[in-house]
Amino acid sequence: MRYELFERAKPILNQIQQHGFEAYYVGGSVRDYLMGREIHDIDITTSATPDEIEDIFDKTIPIGKEHGTINVVYNDENYEVTTFRAEEDYVDHRRPSEVHFVRDLYQDVQRRDFTINAIAMDTNYNTYDYFDGEDDIKAKQIRTVGVARERFEEDALRIIRGLRFQSQLNFQIVNETFEAMATQISDIQYLSIERIVVELKKLINGINVSESFKNMKEIQAFNYIPFFKAFNMNKVFINEPLSFEIWIALMLAQQPIEDSLKALKISNLEKSNIQNFVNLIKILPKVESKQDLITVVYDYNLSDIECVLTANDTLKENGLEIANPLIINATSIKETDAQLPIHTRKEMDVNGGDIIKHLQVKSGPWLKDVLRQIELAIITQQMNNTKLEILEWVDANVKV
Ligand code: ATP
Ligand code: MG
Repeated sequence: MRYELFERAKPILNQIQQHGFEAYYVGGSVRDYLMGREIHDIDITTSATPDEIEDIFDKTIPIGKEHGTINVVYNDENYEVTTFRAEEDYVDHRRPSEVHFVRDLYQDVQRRDFTINAIAMDTNYNTYDYFDGEDDIKAKQIRTVGVARERFEEDALRIIRGLRFQSQLNFQIVNETFEAMATQISDIQYLSIERIVVELKKLINGINVSESFKNMKEIQAFNYIPFFKAFNMNKVFINEPLSFEIWIALMLAQQPIEDSLKALKISNLEKSNIQNFVNLIKILPKVESKQDLITVVYDYNLSDIECVLTANDTLKENGLEIANPLIINATSIKETDAQLPIHTRKEMDVNGGDIIKHLQVKSGPWLKDVLRQIELAIITQQMNNTKLEILEWVDANVKV
């Protein structure tokens, strides 16, 4: 299973070689393969220029051509093929906008961030490991390629990446590298929030998040990141892997800061998921009766409730009230959901129009309340979901 992705990509590397160029697997896939971890996507590095790659293959997409990356479409799958490149001229502690292509593998791996990410491998599974990345994998440690301070000065994102690899891989960061992280951390203020968020999503969800989150706080990384800098991060404790959305929701429930989400520049869907989680974090502890439980299960997604319940330990650690496990637990919410007579308002046997017609009145703000009352009466089984019963209830209870 582990080799499968490499084997599938092999014909691409072979074809590049048949045209007289070098081609290797490189980066995360080689690292994960050597660690016995599952590999998820393959990066190919080559001495051929983007133009030469486009000449070699029939189907290509120039996805990041100016940076040297061409997508080769092979057997309906996309493979990123990137030309060996050296990076110079870093401006404002960000990756350079200009790169130049080289013909030498050594120069390509030399510009990579950590030794464990700088190992190339050919189609016979021979590795080209100029910076002792394999030793560092064995020793479970994260070390920059070259002088740490210089590498972080060039591109400060590497600091956050190093901490996210510590979290994901459960590795230690070697002293020189960690000290340089602490020294250079303020440079992350120049990075785009989008690049940082990509790394934070992986960091917060890693098995060793407990340590890397402590390290993030220790080097005061959050002081330089939009959104987070508005929060008192000393009050935030993360000791188990979480989804990014739950993490942000937890912080907002703990320290409500108006309009702060904007600064994260995440998608509207993510924002609304987070808002949903904030609501659930606040509502679940207030659920005290069977009736409350039914309402919550009806109003929210089961999987969202489950997500919040799984984070109970973390919520508690962060001073937030949690749901009563005797009332709300994985079993009780599933059972409650299975017993719901309807799952959405659309399933009601009567809609707003029917009620207006029945009462022969004009619509108004009262209608929303009435529909909600009917819906609650149906889900708590105080009323059957039939037009007849609902309209009888309307006659008895609605005065307009
Ligand atoms: P993942 O398994 O999460 O994809 P990865 O190591 O493949 O981890 P990517 O962000 O996909 O990480 O980057 C691919 C490779 O590109 C890295 O392994 C590293 O060699 C190089 N790289 C990525 N970002 C940087 C950076 N900011 N500075 C230097 N090298 C980098
Ligand atoms: Mg990758």
